[in-house]
Amino acid sequence: MDSSLNYEVVSHDLYRGPNALEKFVDRIEEELINIQADLSAPAEMIMVPGDLKTYNKATECWICKKPFIKPSQEALQKFEEAKHRLLEVNEWEASMGEDHPEKKKIQKEYREALSALNRKVKDHDHINGKYRGSAHDTCNKKLRIGFFKTKVPLICHNFRGYDSHPLMKVVSKFTADKLNCIPENIGKYKAMDVGQLRFLDSFQHMGMGLDKLVIR
Ligand SMILES: [Zn+2]
Repeated sequence: MDSSLNYEVVSHDLYRGPNALEKFVDRIEEELINIQADLSAPAEMIMVPGDLKTYNKATECWICKKPFIKPSQEALQKFEEAKHRLLEVNEWEASMGEDHPEKKKIQKEYREALSALNRKVKDHDHINGKYRGSAHDTCNKKLRIGFFKTKVPLICHNFRGYDSHPLMKVVSKFTADKLNCIPENIGKYKAMDVGQLRFLDSFQHMGMGLDKLVIR
């Protein structure tokens, strides 16, 4: 999961009865579909007064902390040429009323030439829309959320001690995704990935039984 992401799904579903684990996995899969839908539609950027001024003044990328560098003359020229070719394609399509045969190739060349400029761009949180800072184009793209890739954390208490065993049995029945353990040291693991889901254990950080942790 991206370090800049803060996302919480709260569910108050309570189920008691047969096949509880299967029901749990069903619900988790439904939540995952909802999360994927949310991630696939990035929030519009919200800039508060002062953000634009800070952006214009910024001389370094907030992500990599390195300065913004003027693109080379060669990169600028390549970009201008690619832009010109793309405009020609658009004009051609407007007059002919059909797709240009080399449209995809020319669009790709344009994207590459634009990316090579590594310009200063406005980076924002795709979940809450908040402006985060000025960034290199490439750094910004690296932080972008992959809605089918970004790991979705699922925190279970004492997962490693007990819950993981029966749960993983059920999960592996339901999904074609492979289980992948993230090791902590020999014989111990700190997390377990199943497809996009990352199971984490809160017992690692709060080593008490749930009855002692819950505020009554
Ligand atoms: Zn950067």
